[in-house]
Amino acid sequence: MDHKLKYDVVVAGAGIAGIAAAVAAARKGMKTALIEKQTLIGGLATSGLILVYLPLCDGNGTQVTFGIAEELLKRSLNYGPFDLPEKWGGPAGNKCEENRYKCYFNPAGFTLELDKILLEAGVELFLDTMMIAAETDEKNAVRSIRVANASGSFDIEGKCFVDTTGDASLVRRAGGEFETGENYISPWWMENSPGYSQRYHFVDDLHIQPVGPIKNYPRIDEPETGKSATCFTRTAWQIIRDHYASIYAEDPGLRHKHFPIHLPAMPQFRKIACAKSCFMLNDEMYGRHFDDSIGLYADWRKAGYVWETPYRCLLPEKINGILTAGRCMGAVGDAWETFRVIPAAAMTGEAAGCAAALSVQHDRDPKELDVELLRAELRKNDFRFHLEEVGLEKRS
Ligand SMILES: Cc1cc2nc3c(=O)[nH]c(=O)nc-3n(C[C@H](O)[C@H](O)[C@H](O)COP(=O)(O)OP(=O)(O)OC[C@H]3O[C@@H](n4cnc5c(N)ncnc54)[C@H](O)[C@@H]3O)c2cc1C
Repeated sequence: MDHKLKYDVVVAGAGIAGIAAAVAAARKGMKTALIEKQTLIGGLATSGLILVYLPLCDGNGTQVTFGIAEELLKRSLNYGPFDLPEKWGGPAGNKCEENRYKCYFNPAGFTLELDKILLEAGVELFLDTMMIAAETDEKNAVRSIRVANASGSFDIEGKCFVDTTGDASLVRRAGGEFETGENYISPWWMENSPGYSQRYHFVDDLHIQPVGPIKNYPRIDEPETGKSATCFTRTAWQIIRDHYASIYAEDPGLRHKHFPIHLPAMPQFRKIACAKSCFMLNDEMYGRHFDDSIGLYADWRKAGYVWETPYRCLLPEKINGILTAGRCMGAVGDAWETFRVIPAAAMTGEAAGCAAALSVQHDRDPKELDVELLRAELRKNDFRFHLEEVGLEKRS
């Protein structure tokens, strides 16, 4: 292709954050492109076989996250055997993760539903298309990305970009700075397991069960590279082979009952790289008031730890014309660990997509956007920004 494609908003990476961002922008009337290197959408949540939509509540009965995050949670159930918890929260509190406002989903079914959501919103999806480079102008604003697919390599121009690659690929290719995360291997995969929980009973007598984690390996600190992704993935396969070898050593007949059905189609890195942003959310910042909060999110590991999310975490520090969301937004330490999950990706994705649309409409860089304007838009989709809006108190 020798011509440039032109869009209002270009989103790189069709994981949960990218889908939420693209849908939010398209629903605001933006001509929106969503670029995905795989032939599946949903990122780690679906290709990575992560099937737990973590909670939208604080663990004490108060819902804190709303908007597309809630829409996706509900629609994740449309092609699958699971339901929302009948009862979550309540006066006694539900501190354990199990009884919170969360659900299990079936990755294949969620993929189909996510595609429907993109179609309904009018997002133009490019599958099997890898973003390989970015071009910036004299103001250090991203103006176009170069992508490669079966048609060759070509440029896509945008008025505003969102990096939802999960590893800040676009920010890095545009020359932005980044932080790297810690990783250890704990493979999740699906196996046929009759006699286990029958949550996955799709095909006659196949009882498909998610497995993992079974073993932890040392940290991997470098951001994803071709080499590290290969090494990480093949080490996970070895762990899985070892797992079956030990089961079959006890009883070779178990081969007929316990066998792998499906492996993750992307490396199960938790934290690869995140954009160095205008504000880096850090340890112990839960319960704090931020003037520029664009949404609330609660720790999925313990009750009562609710975070306001500064808009500045979505703004890469040294490059312009771009926002980030999901697991590559600006967060480090325990804040990164808290925000790297599915509902937070949906919430920050929606905020980033909405901000990108407003930037285009008002001809402003995302960094110059009036946060009140953004909040007014998000409020229309039920967002809450500060703890007191959901009846919680900030930490003194
Ligand atoms: C083992 C493990 C267990 C987990 N458990 C849970 C859990 O129980 N519940 C939960 O909520 N979360 C869990 N998580 C975390 C969660 O699944 C992810 O962090 C979350 O889904 C991230 O969403 P995202 O959209 O930010 O990024 P991703 O899902 O990583 O999506 C990024 C997308 O961008 C695409 N992409 C990347 N680079 C390019 C490029 N150059 N060009 C085009 N496309 C590109 C990728 O293919 C991908 O589709 C777990 C993670 C792991 C690894």
